[in-house]
Amino acid sequence: MNRNPEPLERCGQCQALIEEGEALGTHVPDSSYLHPHDPTRDGDRPLIACSPEHLAELMKAAGARPYLDVELWAGKIDRALATCPQGLSLYALAVKTGLTQDQIEQAALWSGRSVHSLGNPP
Ligand SMILES: [Zn+2]
Repeated sequence: MNRNPEPLERCGQCQALIEEGEALGTHVPDSSYLHPHDPTRDGDRPLIACSPEHLAELMKAAGARPYLDVELWAGKIDRALATCPQGLSLYALAVKTGLTQDQIEQAALWSGRSVHSLGNPP
């Protein structure tokens, strides 16, 4: 558990605005979380709370969710495709997401899509 250095966060539990330096923060594994600008931190959800009690509540809620690699991969694929509406080849998708083609195929299966609908621009 670390003091969070970023000012004026909101508690994830009660939404209270937290004074600079007073936020309690931690990270939990969450395969549905995509970091806004650092793909190496995908799946590692930051939790911010105003008190140890609220942090414990947030961690409990996050821990109740199963962590699925394939869900994280599907999220990375969605993000990559969102930037390329015309589609991407499987190879380009692998480069963009940092996933192997095998991981991409598993993620496509998991999310109920065919690999061919992901890639292969017309
Ligand atoms: Zn709170």
